[in-house]
Amino acid sequence: MRKGALIIISAPSGAGKTTICRKLLARREDLHYSVSCTTRSPRPGERNGKAYFFLTREEFKRKIIRNEFLEWAMVHDEYYGTPRHFVDEIVKKGENVIMAIDVQGAMSVRRKYPASILVFVLPPSLDALKSRLAARRDPQDSVAKRLANSRGELAAAKDYDYVVVNEDLEKAVGQISSILTAETLRTSRLDPSYLLPALA
Ligand code: 5GP
Repeated sequence: MRKGALIIISAPSGAGKTTICRKLLARREDLHYSVSCTTRSPRPGERNGKAYFFLTREEFKRKIIRNEFLEWAMVHDEYYGTPRHFVDEIVKKGENVIMAIDVQGAMSVRRKYPASILVFVLPPSLDALKSRLAARRDPQDSVAKRLANSRGELAAAKDYDYVVVNEDLEKAVGQISSILTAETLRTSRLDPSYLLPALA
């Protein structure tokens, strides 16, 4: 029996982390997605409970007070948070959780779960990032805010365990899947009683 892994994907907005997570989940049955809560409005096609749990600010603040978040942060002037219960349950079962959260969130999860695996996804270039953001139908001021925030987020990549460049989507997904495979095979994730027969 092995301990479950927490894999955290961070990237500047528009670098493709949502698509990467979707593809990884389709490939791996041993992986579960942590659906975050947010106070931002849904984008076209985003369903409540699938992309996010969309909450009012009052609802979000009530959850903070009740200590229902593993971590939460203010990103682009909106609240985002990871529900604690889901992550704890999956990890207890020895299965893996993937979460797509920002750098502040990644660092606070690592403080609570030091064995979490931090992967930073880079866009192939700043121009590619700009055109992906422009293709979304977000308000202009939100696009400008996201681009401005990207600089700070990119600087945080050095604190991550792995950096993957999303130039070719399938390749990036394959690389992250390999990272997860290798990390879950670490000796430190193995229940020591497993090794006992070999040592007897
Ligand atoms: P978006 O609004 O584009 O979906 O997400 C904006 C940013 O918030 C992204 O960097 C995303 O990874 C981050 N984010 C999403 N969910 C969470 C969360 O639960 N906690 C934190 N700290 N960041 C999150």
